[in-house]
Amino acid sequence: MDGKNGEQRASCISCGVYNCDSGDKTFPPFCLTNEENRPIIEETIRIYETDEQTGRVARASAEVEGEHYCQATRVEEILYFAEKIGAKKIGIATCVGLIEESKLFAKILRAKGFQPFGVACKVGGVDKNVIGIPDEKKVDRGGYEPICNPVAQAKLLNKEGTDLNVIVGLCVGHDSLFIKYSDALVTTLVTKDRVLGHNPVAALYTLGSYYKKILR
Ligand code: SF4
Repeated sequence: MDGKNGEQRASCISCGVYNCDSGDKTFPPFCLTNEENRPIIEETIRIYETDEQTGRVARASAEVEGEHYCQATRVEEILYFAEKIGAKKIGIATCVGLIEESKLFAKILRAKGFQPFGVACKVGGVDKNVIGIPDEKKVDRGGYEPICNPVAQAKLLNKEGTDLNVIVGLCVGHDSLFIKYSDALVTTLVTKDRVLGHNPVAALYTLGSYYKKILR
């Protein structure tokens, strides 16, 4: 059961049977694959059928999974996906701390015939003070420290008319804003985790051992 403040509401993260996936078991009593939710599920099928872009993207991503399952890296999957949806100009919304990795990704994109265009998070050089972040909330206090500006990253990539935007290491929350303001579809190559070498799932893999302190 999940929830806080005494609120307990079972959901898929309470499930142990996953009959939606296997189809050979029985749905649990709290299952979200129920009659109440049937109209929502059917509505989504109509969206895939009638919204040209949504249907094309849904099929393209399923095809990439099916054709390259456990064989392609995420870099390769992005290349295959971009090709399937006809994307040529690929926006890279990069953390400035990962800009060398973004340059390498751009090298791969160019080698495969795509046109990469990157915008770094610090673009515009706006000091944090300007948007109301006080000195004591800066990483290095007392001097110039620019904001990450994911809204500008999105708007500059929108201006370029990118077909698909790829996140490389944007901060938690900055990625949310980038996705909100991007005109093009967004996928992620690198999910930033400054502690775990950009492998955030390591915190979950070690929850039963070295990372169990988080539960205290
Ligand atoms: S949809 Fe039902 S069967 Fe599937 S994970 Fe959720 S609760 Fe389990």
